[in-house]
Amino acid sequence: MRSPVDIELIHTIAQLRERLHPSRSAPIALVPTMGALHTGHGTLITKAATETACVVVSIFVNPTQFNDPSDYQRYPRTLSTDSEFCQRHGAHIIFAPSAEEMYPEPPQTFVEVGAVSEHLCGKFRPGHFRGVATVVLKLFQIVQPDRAYFGEKDAQQLAVIQRMVRDLNVPVEIVPAPTVRESDGLAMSSRNQHLTPEQRSIAPLLYQALQHALSTIEKGERSAASLQQQALATLAVPGIRVEYLEIVDAASMQPIETIQTDARIAIAAWVGSTRLIDNVFVPACH
Ligand code: AMP
Repeated sequence: MRSPVDIELIHTIAQLRERLHPSRSAPIALVPTMGALHTGHGTLITKAATETACVVVSIFVNPTQFNDPSDYQRYPRTLSTDSEFCQRHGAHIIFAPSAEEMYPEPPQTFVEVGAVSEHLCGKFRPGHFRGVATVVLKLFQIVQPDRAYFGEKDAQQLAVIQRMVRDLNVPVEIVPAPTVRESDGLAMSSRNQHLTPEQRSIAPLLYQALQHALSTIEKGERSAASLQQQALATLAVPGIRVEYLEIVDAASMQPIETIQTDARIAIAAWVGSTRLIDNVFVPACH
């Protein structure tokens, strides 16, 4: 393990470019994050460090992807513990720009990814994926990584980025990594720390509903409407308000009626004032 002085914390684009210039003979990895790092991020960083000589973790709470200003304000910011965390997981550089550094003037150029960003979170968070795609492309331009690592926890985000990279011929390999969960199944998220103990105790129901749907599929059910109805019944408890529970094609993120191709069951639900998302993959061969 390297000593704590090894990791470099860089706040400006110019310094990062200068630092990376001599490292370009070997592959560079980027792990984009919004900080408040947990084991889910840790597995992305470790995977990147295993596969790549130079790992940059970006920590930036991107204002343009928040459609709710209070969600942006209360998003946890924990840079000093995040730095130690990145160090422990094998990262080399943290890029933590200010909002002014990333957006010195109101931007006039945006990346709009079409149909893949329309359903699920796209429907309930207008402008969210435009903000995500734009900031990720900016980070790609700034870091110019060979690979970038994204979690399947945010499956629609992953699909949006994969599509953007294909459509715009961005020379970055997108590497997905599986969702990391707490021992009771709750998908790890920086937002989990907003949950009260009571809310935390019911939050694993989201994953249980997804697991329930998976086992029903195992038994031969193929109808999305029927799976949806059964999964929603699992979630009909006080304290949980489901925003969507949809079965979509895994690549296009379009809702499907019958499971025939690779699919995902995706959910967004409010537990108190915290919005949680989760999903599971359903392979076509089920
Ligand atoms: P965030 O900081 O929430 O924007 O997430 C940064 C990256 O970490 C994204 O690619 C997420 O999909 C990924 N990530 C967040 N939580 C998890 C998790 N529980 N398991 C795997 N990846 C995750």
